Amino acid sequence: MSRQIRIAGGGLSGLATAVLLARRGIEVEVFDRHRGGGGRFGGGWQVLENGTAAADALDELRGLGLEPAFPAIPARRALFLDAFGGTHEVASAAPYAYFVRRGPDGSLDSWLRGLALAAGVTLREGVAAPADAEVVATGPRQADGAARELVFRSDLADTVAVLFDPALTPTGYAYLFCLGGHGTFGVAQVRQLAGLPRARELAWHRFRAVLGEFAVRDEREHGQFMNFSLPRHLRAADGRWYVGEAAGVQDFLFGLGNRLALRTAGLAAAGIAGAWDAPRFAASVRRPMRATVATRFIYERLGRRAFAGFCRRAGRGDFRDLLLRLQRPGVAADAAARLVMAAWRERRGCRHGPLCSWCRRREA
Ligand SMILES: Cc1cc2nc3c(=O)[nH]c(=O)nc-3n(C[C@H](O)[C@H](O)[C@H](O)COP(=O)(O)OP(=O)(O)OC[C@H]3O[C@@H](n4cnc5c(N)ncnc54)[C@H](O)[C@@H]3O)c2cc1C
Repeated sequence: MSRQIRIAGGGLSGLATAVLLARRGIEVEVFDRHRGGGGRFGGGWQVLENGTAAADALDELRGLGLEPAFPAIPARRALFLDAFGGTHEVASAAPYAYFVRRGPDGSLDSWLRGLALAAGVTLREGVAAPADAEVVATGPRQADGAARELVFRSDLADTVAVLFDPALTPTGYAYLFCLGGHGTFGVAQVRQLAGLPRARELAWHRFRAVLGEFAVRDEREHGQFMNFSLPRHLRAADGRWYVGEAAGVQDFLFGLGNRLALRTAGLAAAGIAGAWDAPRFAASVRRPMRATVATRFIYERLGRRAFAGFCRRAGRGDFRDLLLRLQRPGVAADAAARLVMAAWRERRGCRHGPLCSWCRRREA
């Protein structure tokens, strides 16, 4: 096929789309305003979640034709901190996630960049994308939530800790991951964003109190927006394809979007090549995302005691099984989501553009 496709944004979804199109014989150019790849993130840890579908996340990548040759640490244990000073160990037999780095080196981003170059994709870095690129993969278009992160080096032993305290991080949570001496601490919220700096301070002190003294070197702090909407298709009314967070694709519960970003790349690449799979898009993107709207509604209503109960419950069984049950799409989840979506319906114009079939814009 002799066609040219220009992709705006060389993050996960943009590069994965580029690789899959180039392998179909399409000439692809990717534009990213940062040089070297992974520009939005500074080398911190993220998870490739493995708790929303029975299929393993790495197998899903293999199924897309993207052999997962990047450093990935299977996550089978974690420490949950509740609001009352309690700590709860959770564990799963199969990984509930894989830890991956985001940024320029040894990361999910550098792996995809290597695949793109090997497939013959032209990378145009350090430049803004043309406004009429056929594929939009530029990440968040609207601040539906925000996160603050600290990336650092440390002598802390390997640690995966998550803090659930709605008084400290209303509508959100805080995390501290340290693996092989690389640390990432963050706080994410979808409401009361003005309180994020204070939440960051309080959560940091809480982790320090529980984990004890540890060194923090070479630290870098950054803030980021998060974007959520439910796309009706990946091809918008303006004729362009939207993938990853530019399509609003993230789970509404924890704001995890890496796996979905790669999934939308597979769907969009097939669509651009003339094989759009509508049932697959509905089953693998829309329905699972919709199911997390209902869990988000519940999440925001839980008090400190209920979260402590959740932490205790998570510590009792297999954590991955619990995640699968909580996020499983089904008739009940669909019905609950429809009710919540009717109550939370966006009534003013949102900036998700012609793709958004539903979003919940944060209050001003
Ligand atoms: C702090 C934080 C922590 C997160 N942790 C997790 C996690 O643990 N697990 C998870 O699954 N998800 C996580 N997410 C969400 C996840 O990072 C995103 O869903 C995912 O990166 C989306 O991929 P993408 O391809 O859409 O965008 P990105 O990977 O962000 O790529 C967008 C690219 O577009 C480029 N760009 C933007 N505008 C332009 C322009 N005008 N011209 C040219 N280039 C442009 C940027 O430089 C960037 O390289 C987190 C998000 C944040 C903010």
